[in-house]
Parts: sequence; C-alpha cells; structure tokens
Amino acid sequence: MKIFDGINDIRKEIEIWKKAGLKIGLVPTMGYLHAGHASLIKESVKNNDKTVVSVFVNPSQFAPNEDLESYPRDLERDSEIVKSAGGDAVFCPCAEEMYGKNHLTSVKVSDLSEKLCGITRPSHFAGVTTVVAKLFNIVLPDKAYFGLKDYQQYIIIKKMAEDLNFNIDIQGVPIVRDSDGLALSSRNIYLSEDERKAALSLSRSLIYAEKNIKSGVKAVEIIGNIRDIVEREAHTKIDYIKICDPLTLRDLDIISSGYAVLLAVYVGKARLIDNLVKFNL
Ligand code: AMP
Repeated sequence: MKIFDGINDIRKEIEIWKKAGLKIGLVPTMGYLHAGHASLIKESVKNNDKTVVSVFVNPSQFAPNEDLESYPRDLERDSEIVKSAGGDAVFCPCAEEMYGKNHLTSVKVSDLSEKLCGITRPSHFAGVTTVVAKLFNIVLPDKAYFGLKDYQQYIIIKKMAEDLNFNIDIQGVPIVRDSDGLALSSRNIYLSEDERKAALSLSRSLIYAEKNIKSGVKAVEIIGNIRDIVEREAHTKIDYIKICDPLTLRDLDIISSGYAVLLAVYVGKARLIDNLVKFNL
C-alpha cells in the first residue's frame, strides 16, 4: 500500500496502472476511518484492480463556524485501515496542494444542493462537488464509491457526474451501523455517553418510520411522530426531518411509492445525519 501526498506523484502511478489496463476504484473520505469507510474500500477492492482512498479534510466544505480545525485526524491509523481493507493507495494532499494559491473555480449542482443540509450549510455541497470533481480528474477512476449515509451527497454526486459527463460509475454503499443502531460517523467521537444514548433516537425513529409507512399515509403524520421520538431525549435539537422523493429529493405529501426519510439532528455539539430510503413500498 503506497501513500501519496502530491498530485503529480499519484498521477504517475495512475498512468502506470492505466497503461496496464487496470480498472481503478476511488473512495473519497475525510479520514478518521471507521468500518463504514472500510465497507466502501472493500466494495471497491472487490470490483476493481486498484483502489485509491483519498484522505482530505476539505476546507471548502466547512463554513467558518464549523469544526474544520477540530475535525479528528489520524493518518497513521487510516493507512492501516486502508491496508487491511485491501486498498492500494492513500492520497492525502495538503490544502495547498489541492487548491494552490489562487483557486477560483467551483462546481455547484443547483437545486439539489440548496435543500435539506444545504439550508443550514449553504456552501457545503459546492465544496464537496468541487473537491470530488478535482479528485475525479486526478485519479481518473472507473468507479467511485459513496456511502448512502450521506444520501443527499450521493444524489448530488450522481447528478454532477451525469451533467459534467464524467465517465465514472457512481456506486452507493449501504449505511454501516454500530450494534446499537447508531450510524457510524467520524463525528460520533464528539458524543458523551449520555449524548450517545440520545443519538440512538435517530435510528429508532427510522425503525418506527419503516414499520408505519404504508401506501396513502401522510408524510406530516410520520414526521410528527419522528419529532416526538427525537425530542423526548435530552441533548437533541432537530435541524430537519423530511420525507422526500428518493431521486428528486422533493418533499412528499402523501406517501404512495418510494420515499427517503432524511434526518439531521444536533446531539450536543455533533450534527448527526441518518436516513431510510425505499424505492418501492
Ligand atoms: P466522510 O469521511 O465522513 O466524508 O465519509 C467518506 C465516505 O464514507 C462518504 O461517502 C460517506 O457517505 C461514507 N460513510 C461515512 N460513514 C458511513 C457509514 N456509517 N456507512 C456507510 N458509509 C459511510
């Protein structure tokens, strides 16, 4: 397993792989890897000849009031996880390597980036799509892997790839949860013991939703009950609870076929997201 921090260096390796006709999978991450990231890496290893894992805490997707400085980092541990999941390369550039001194270009997917998480975090998704577009151009992957835990991000990246004609197969990988149901996240380390218990209300409310959503049910009823489940816990502050069409992310009124229940909740200082997506009832 090799580690690259320079764009030119990884490009040289990619060129060798391409000349040998090898298929390349890319797993973009912000590091502090856990079993959720490992499942993306393993999926890539299974379906490609070479897997590159990028580890880059991308400044442009954090607002000034967010946790860029305190975001957890541990490159040594990350490299071990990539190696044991079968990855071939870690690409871990510094911010200056990625953005240079005078970066003026941004990629934004309209509409989809402006709803849900885009309301509280208005510049977030443009930061994500810009850095992912750059990673696509550097690594030239055949396939790229994204977690369905960040469902809105996955839909936005798929749209970007379609609109900008990236010849890359965008794969969504199911959410990996802890044994108690909490979706794994690098930000879970911010949670105290009590907050972690409160955070379980997110997955619990999705289990409630799955059991109770039937054709013809009103979204507002399910949302109200999810709100109760989450608000019953101390330490929680709801950012949003939405039930949307799983492709367009438009709000649903009456649920009659596929749906996505999407949640964002502050638990203590951690902002957690979780979701349940069904394409058929
Ligand atoms: P991050 O490092 O948080 O930016 O995440 C990097 C990638 O890992 C994204 O595509 C995430 O959706 C994915 N990911 C993070 N947590 C999980 C999880 N619990 N299950 C599946 N994928 C995840």
